[in-house]
Order: sequence, then C-alpha cells, then structure tokens
Amino acid sequence: MEKRLLEPVGADLRALLDRVADWVVGYVDGLRHRPVSDFTDVPALLARSDLRRPPGDAGRPLDDLLSTVDLAVSKGLNPSHPGHLGFIPGSGLVSAAIADLVADVLNQYTGLAFPAPGMVALETTVLRWQGDLFGLPATAAGILTTGGSLATLSAVVTARETRLPADFLAGTLYVTSETHQCVAKAARLAGFPADAVRVVPVDDQLRMDPDALRAVLATDRAAGLRPFLLVANAGSTNTGTIDPLTTLADLAAAEDLWLHVDAAYGGFFQLTDRGRERLHGIERGDSLVLDPHKSLFLPFGTGSLLVRDGDLLRRAHSGADDGHYLQDIRDVSLPDFAAYGPELTRDNRGLRMWLPLHLHGVDAFRAALDEKLDLAGHVYAELSADPLLVVPRAPSLSTVAFRLRAGDTAELMRRVNTEAEVFLSSTRIGDHHIGRVCVLNHRTDRDRVDRAVSAIRRHARALS
Ligand SMILES: *Cc1c(COP(=O)(O)O)cnc(C)c1O
Repeated sequence: MEKRLLEPVGADLRALLDRVADWVVGYVDGLRHRPVSDFTDVPALLARSDLRRPPGDAGRPLDDLLSTVDLAVSKGLNPSHPGHLGFIPGSGLVSAAIADLVADVLNQYTGLAFPAPGMVALETTVLRWQGDLFGLPATAAGILTTGGSLATLSAVVTARETRLPADFLAGTLYVTSETHQCVAKAARLAGFPADAVRVVPVDDQLRMDPDALRAVLATDRAAGLRPFLLVANAGSTNTGTIDPLTTLADLAAAEDLWLHVDAAYGGFFQLTDRGRERLHGIERGDSLVLDPHKSLFLPFGTGSLLVRDGDLLRRAHSGADDGHYLQDIRDVSLPDFAAYGPELTRDNRGLRMWLPLHLHGVDAFRAALDEKLDLAGHVYAELSADPLLVVPRAPSLSTVAFRLRAGDTAELMRRVNTEAEVFLSSTRIGDHHIGRVCVLNHRTDRDRVDRAVSAIRRHARALS
C-alpha cells in the first residue's frame, strides 16, 4: 500500500497519541512544582536555534518537537499554573483540550447548520443553557466567538444597526473609567469617532453613577448627539466592580438606550447563589458578553455573545444576499452561525464547551466558582487586617485590590512576582498604583492564595 506521508494510521497514529498523552499527564501533574512565571534571559531563549528553525523538507520525530515546545514555554507567564492571580486568569480545562482534539479530527463545518446539524445542535444547546442561566426569553440567540472583544464588536454593531440611522456618526455610547478598553475598540471598528465614547463618572465604589449618567445624557441630547448604547459592567477587569444593573436597566428603558452588559469576567458567577444575588439585573441586558475562557475555565479562544432579540443579531450580521457558492445550503431549522457573527468558517467552539459541561457536570463548575469567591474573601480578610496595607473595597467577585499604606506598591509587586510562587498584576485607580489578586484559575487552592498573602505581607513589612 502506498504510504500517505500526511496520514499516520494504525499503530503509528496510536504511538503519536500515546506520546502526547504521556506529555500531557506529565505536564499537568508537575504543574504546581513549576514557577508560575520566568521573565529572565528572554533574549537568550529567543536566540536559541530550535525556536528559529524553519521547517525542513524531511520530517522530524515528535519527541524532538515536544522538546522544542517545552523550551518555548520555559519563559513568560504560565496561565495554567495555580499561582496565576494576575489580570483575569484563564486556566484551560484539559477536558476542553480533549474536546478540541475530537472536534479537530472530525473537522465538521459549523458555520452553517446544513453540513453539521448534530454539532450545530450541540452548540445551540450550550448557547440556550447560557440564555436560561440569565433568564433570557425564547427569542434570544447567541454565538460563541473567539473571545469577549469580538463578542463586544458584534454587540456594538447590532446596537448601532438597531438604534441608529445609516448615517450614525452622531451616535454616542456610555461607559465608565472601569469599562474594558475592548468597548472603545469595538466602537472604533464599528466606525465611531473616539469622542462618541462618553465616560460617565463613578461613585466611591467605582460603579457608574446613575445621576451623573442622566446629566450627561441630557447635555449630549441638547448638543444634538444621539445616545444609543449604555454599557454596564458585570465584573470589571480592574476590580470586579458591578454597576447598579437594575437602576441602569430602568434608565436604559426610560432613555431608549440599548443596554449592553459586559460580563466577560463576572458572567458565570451567575451559577452561584452569591453571584446571582450580586449580578441581579443582568438578565435585563439587550446584549450580554461572557467569556467562557475566563469564568468557565476554558482554554483561550472562547467568548460568548447573547442577544435578547436574536433576530437583531442576525440582521446586523447577514449579507445582503448569500454568495452563489452557498446555493446548496438547505434550511434545517437550526441557526447558521455565519449569519450571527463576522466569520464564515470557524472552529468548532461548541464541543469545547459542551464536553466539559457534560463530563464534569454543572455542579463542578458551581463548586469551583464558589471556591473562588471564598478564596477571594479569605484574601480580603487577611490583607485588610494588615495595618501596612490599604484594601478599600470588599471584593464584589473574586478580585481584591490593595496598596501599601506608605511605600512603593509597584516595588512590592515586583518582589512578590520575582519569587514566582504566584503572579500578580497591577492597575491604576485615580492617582494610586494598585496591586490586584484575582482568583479565577480552577487550579488555585487555599495553599496558593496563602502563599500570595504571606508574600504580600512579608514584602509590605520590608518596604514600609
Ligand atoms: C477580558 C475582558 C474583556 C475582553 O475579552 P477578551 O476575551 O480578552 O477579548 C472584556 N471585558 C471584560 C470585563 C474582560 O475582563
């Protein structure tokens, strides 16, 4: 039989898979003994010939290639590590990677329902599950995207198409200083000038001030602008701030604004009793962005957009007419995802979300998120009890922001991170350099946050 060079089969295929399985198990089991980050000698790494080598005409053994992968990940930040408490950690469930392997082997085309009705049905099921989680009506529709940024772009375009005339340049949208920059980026990509994004003042808890919003709206309307979109935080990236969602929903209704809720970080805390209570009002959004690659622990590359009136999402993303190359497509009463987002061909994101949810069960996710809330509460109790530290706000979700009462917080962060047991990132609030502890990795446990707390307190003593 002719040997197909690109198609290992039988024992050869099994050998490749077994080798990768060994590598995966070794990696996951050894994770907690590795450093969470290493930013030293990066130029030396980049100079290594293994990383610069172009592909040769002949193939090489998988073992050699996995060694190069090991080398490539030896520097930088390791998001899968339990000590990653910086930014918004995205940890990466191995079960989702297994789903990806299966999905990629099948390589079913899920941009349209006709060629993959079963797969599209599975993806529709996880979208409906999310809609139900937030009590969205049967008219809701959604799409799994590459992340929160692309989901936000589709939300902004849908709001623009729905609420503004074709000549939309007088349109304005309302955010706060805490809003993720992907909203301004989406507005720009959607064609708005930079000053269309109006920054509304916040209260002392960093939440959007509804009275200030009313005042800004009145001023803007009087100046001939056309307010159309209100963006509410359901867990800001900086501090986990949740805007007053119910009040903002009332205000959006009274002022005829599209209400977009950015729940990219906070959304799946809705699975927990505490989260549901704190996110009350989230269900009133016209559009909702979630990031399964954050609070559902999936690997990077999975965001989610839910729109209350799904037809509006479809209308904003459908072409004027379908290309002739799609003339064989038949309607199978399932969504054609290509009509709900910017992409035609897309990877099978549905299986990546469906398999872990069914394999582990929803309770496992609920328990993990409850644990993150408990751990953040523990960090808050420990840090706020330290007279050398200022911790102005109890965490609304799983992020604790702090600073040194007297001393250099930036230097404190550097010293903690140099030890590489945990990784923290910082931000600015007002004039202050602020340290953050964000607990959102499914592998982060009590032992690891205790190491973070003791490192912060130890260096705080040295620097005060
Ligand atoms: C991460 C994040 C985003 C952007 O999502 P990406 O998946 O990084 O594109 C938007 N909003 C909030 C609150 C986030 O935390």
